Amino acid sequence: MLLVSACLAGLRVRYDASHKLDETIRTLVEEGQAATVCPEMLGGLATPREPAEILGGNGDDVLDGAARVVTVSGVDVTASFIEGAYRTLEKARAMNATAVVLKEHSPSCGST
Ligand code: SF4
Repeated sequence: MLLVSACLAGLRVRYDASHKLDETIRTLVEEGQAATVCPEMLGGLATPREPAEILGGNGDDVLDGAARVVTVSGVDVTASFIEGAYRTLEKARAMNATAVVLKEHSPSCGST
C-alpha cells in the first residue's frame, strides 16, 4: 500500500483549497492501492490557510529547531508542521506503507 499526498489525488486540501491532481495517483487511490495524507491538515491547519515557507534552512533544520515555518503574514506555524510530519510518519508506519509519494515544492511534503 502506498501513502500519497492528498492533493495529488485531487483532494482540495492545498492552502488555497485547490488540488494538484495527478491522474495516476487518483487511480491508485480509487483502486485501493494508495491512501492519502495531508501533513498540514494533520498538523491542525485549516483549508484554506495562509501559504507558509521554511525560513533559515530545510526540513531537517526545522526538526532540529534551527529553522522555522512562517506564513506570508509572519505567523509561526512551526509546531503545526512538526506535528503534521510526525503524524504522517505514524500513519505510514501503521499502514506499513511500501512507498510514500509526496508533492514536491511544498514546505511540508516537499523533499527539497
Ligand atoms: S501538505 Fe502536502 S498533501 Fe497537504 S496540500 Fe500541501 S503538498 Fe498537498
